[in-house]
Amino acid sequence: MLLSFLEVEKVSKRYPGQTMPALSDVSFTANQGEIIAILGESGAGKTTLLRIMAGLESPDSGYVWLDGRPVPDLRQKLVPGDARVALIQQDFGLFNRMNVADNLSYPILSLPFERQQTRIQELLELMRLPGIEKKMPAQLSGGERQRIAIARALASYPRLLLMDEPFSQMDYPMRRSLRRDLKKIILRDQITVVLVTHEPSHALAVADKLIVMRKGKILQMGTPEEVYRYPNTEYVAAATGEVNILPTEALPLEWCPELDQPYSKFCIRPEEMAIVTEKESPIRGTAIHSEFAGAYRLVTVLLENGHEVKVFHVGRVPTAGAIVGVRVRRAHPLKA
Ligand code: ADP
Repeated sequence: MLLSFLEVEKVSKRYPGQTMPALSDVSFTANQGEIIAILGESGAGKTTLLRIMAGLESPDSGYVWLDGRPVPDLRQKLVPGDARVALIQQDFGLFNRMNVADNLSYPILSLPFERQQTRIQELLELMRLPGIEKKMPAQLSGGERQRIAIARALASYPRLLLMDEPFSQMDYPMRRSLRRDLKKIILRDQITVVLVTHEPSHALAVADKLIVMRKGKILQMGTPEEVYRYPNTEYVAAATGEVNILPTEALPLEWCPELDQPYSKFCIRPEEMAIVTEKESPIRGTAIHSEFAGAYRLVTVLLENGHEVKVFHVGRVPTAGAIVGVRVRRAHPLKA
């Protein structure tokens, strides 16, 4: 059997004293140089999964293989962990009494001093933070601390990088530049990354493969575009972005050619609808609210049949109370 670079196979875990399992039969694979984003609300099992992948927690059943060898779990090693795997936890785990350079050299103390110094400089440049090696963690901003935590995780050339909410402390421009830098490093060094987040925008922007989890189970997995455009449940639709969920009888069926009868609901993203004049569409309603969102406005329309929909709208804003037409470009059927 040809194994993928990373194989997570039927991993299950229930903590002692808990009735619900933290993870049930979680399986996925990843190639070298791929970024997997795991999206899920609090309690979905994301952190438990990362800790099992890092060898810091034992699964009740299932296994994690990396590059053809198992990641040993707690029962198989005196010192937990695997040298091929680096985990960046939410608190970053920096040593507060050590300066940046000492934090960065800590994982590579076995290298000759000169090589340590070269690697520190390389990492600081990669993270666009040159010249801060003498600073203490407390003197850094949240975003800088996060970048140093990433640099330290990369110091010893891991094959698998695990990140718990990696963009949480960063503002928008910083997140974008870090995402770009990370992609470059990951492709260059052929590192596989698994990151977890509860923010759909982070997951959609960064992932090659997106996994949506809830209550310890994988609900859906695919490219971010597949999952966003073709969610398999109402939950996945709502977890991946703004969405309108409507019963099938809410809109005339000829407007939704994809729909099959067995489906009771469908979802329409706000950008898949348009506001037109009342003469241009048989679906009519009253504009009741409009919210400025920068590039567009999110307009809420109360349809004549009593359902409310949110529509992305660019251009002249309909005044509150105006009768408008709504055009549907695409509707996607949902099972439940
Ligand atoms: P997430 O990271 O998605 O918020 P976690 O993996 O932290 O999810 O938690 C999954 C479930 O396991 C939750 O119900 C949580 O309460 C439980 N859990 C996590 N860690 C422990 C622990 N050490 N002991 C008992 N229950 C835990």
